[in-house]
Amino acid sequence: MNSSTTISRTNSEKLFEKAKTYFPGGVNSPVRAFKSVDGAPLFIKKGDGARIWDEDNNEFIDFCGSWGPLILGHNPTAVRKKIEETLQNGTSFGAPTRLENELADLILSHNKYIDKIRFTSSGTEAVMSGIRLARGYTNRDKIIKFEGCYHGHSDSLLVKAGSGLVTFGESSSAGVPKSIAAETLVLPLNDLPALEKCVAEYPNQIACIIIEPIPANNGLLLQDKSFLLALREICTKNGILLFFDEVISGFRVAFSGAAELYDIQPDIVTYGKIIGGGLPVGAYGSSEKIMSCISPDGAVYQAGTLSGNPIAMSAGIAALTECIAEGFYQDQKARTDYFVDALNTYSKSKNYDFEVFTIGSIFWLAFSKKEAIRSADEIDSDMTPFKKLHSALLNRGIYIGPSGYEVGFVSKAHSKEILTEAIPAFCDALDEVFTS
Ligand code: PMP
Repeated sequence: MNSSTTISRTNSEKLFEKAKTYFPGGVNSPVRAFKSVDGAPLFIKKGDGARIWDEDNNEFIDFCGSWGPLILGHNPTAVRKKIEETLQNGTSFGAPTRLENELADLILSHNKYIDKIRFTSSGTEAVMSGIRLARGYTNRDKIIKFEGCYHGHSDSLLVKAGSGLVTFGESSSAGVPKSIAAETLVLPLNDLPALEKCVAEYPNQIACIIIEPIPANNGLLLQDKSFLLALREICTKNGILLFFDEVISGFRVAFSGAAELYDIQPDIVTYGKIIGGGLPVGAYGSSEKIMSCISPDGAVYQAGTLSGNPIAMSAGIAALTECIAEGFYQDQKARTDYFVDALNTYSKSKNYDFEVFTIGSIFWLAFSKKEAIRSADEIDSDMTPFKKLHSALLNRGIYIGPSGYEVGFVSKAHSKEILTEAIPAFCDALDEVFTS
């Protein structure tokens, strides 16, 4: 695996050329376009456990995991079987099904931070709806978000929003009316004085402070718990809702996400990715009182033709059933630490400007020697080394997300044996980056 030969991308290249005639940039989500790394995006035809295969039959150990949902790896038997079983009865009814109850029960009975939940079809939808809920509940319009945190692509939140935008050198999206952007106050992470000043400047106008409690969309900007606790305190003192966007961290660092890991009670939480077991599901949840504002109980409208879709619910049920198993998260973390420690030990021994940051089963490959990176402006903007590493890894059978601002994920299928196989390939790829 760690001998490097340039992989053939002939079939992917042909498919990409065709795709460009159908889709803007040839893709249905921008970061897939390999704009900030070399070559055509690989078209994937199959996944099994920790491995994927592309249309040229190249095999890779996959650390992207569909950007986070696949905590059990690709095509896990339990999820496939449950989907197949549900599929026998049809795919969608637009009426309630017992599967929605089952998934909700599984989540709520293992999560002390929320009383009620509403399923959506994506993380974006969940966050957008949660913001509307915060505004409806508080009767305030402004929101605070943090630079580098991504919360999906709804208008209010596409301001200084992390990887997708940073990768393309934009801080905000075109097409967002100035009047809407003006309601979003953007602050640096890890800067309490800035936050206190801002809150004092807009008394009784701020509906919520939204944060990825584990910011993982612009590198992995791990916050000190004291910062998150301070947010809790400021929110409580000022009648502001604390909004944890746990689309990545939920069911990833612990079943109830960062809220559980740090034991901090947010007022609104959003989930996505893992919750749907690889199918499109998002969710927002809160207390009984706050959730009573949602239609049809309350005046905040939110709906979805395919919300709570039975196939998606089935995948979520099967996936989360595995996640609640005793020791699941400890085991995930132990294997990830084994992998990350090996890379860091190697990098240190070679004195490379490279360090892997990690939490739970999330990791980020940083071309840095800093002890900690807590805000977006501390990241080195030169992505040339990452670009080299990306190609070097592909050529050694390792697939990672095609952006240096994205994190990687270890799944249950990444056994110690598979990680042991990946480590020398990573080390060899690092040698190529730093010596060529
Ligand atoms: N919030 C966070 C923290 C995310 O990481 C993402 C997606 N990466 C979203 C929201 C949006 O989710 P989706 O892509 O499912 O719309």
